[in-house]
Amino acid sequence: MSGEPSADCLFCRIVRRELPSKVVYEDERLFVFEDIHPKAPVHVLVVPKRHFSSLEEVPEGEAALLGEILLRARMLAREKGVGASGYRIVLNTARDAGQSVFHIHFHVLGGRLLHWPPG
Ligand code: 5GP
Ligand code: ZN
Repeated sequence: MSGEPSADCLFCRIVRRELPSKVVYEDERLFVFEDIHPKAPVHVLVVPKRHFSSLEEVPEGEAALLGEILLRARMLAREKGVGASGYRIVLNTARDAGQSVFHIHFHVLGGRLLHWPPG
């Protein structure tokens, strides 16, 4: 169910530290860790601890959580040294965007020139 912990979700298991990850930041609501296959010198994933399979599953009432994720992503980009040089926040949603892990996650990418449009 939306927002409920999922026993077999990869990122729920990472959040619960049942699986290892390089943790960058954690608070009551958010968890941030290094992407296992970084696509840029800076590549972290920002996830809510609560399980939503994608943006499509986030209820209207969770606007504050989504805003918090963006502000945390900005702070982490600054801390990683790319606040001024630039960074990209990516939220892949469902099949055509290539979403491969079905626990909502915001990519923060930076440290190199990021081409546009994406593939
Ligand atoms: P998506 O394609 O769903 O937007 O992104 C999934 C991301 O999760 C990919 O960038 C992939 O490298 C990353 N990923 C997949 N499995 C793991 C894992 O077990 N640990 C970590 N840290 N990242 C993972
Ligand atoms: Zn999950």
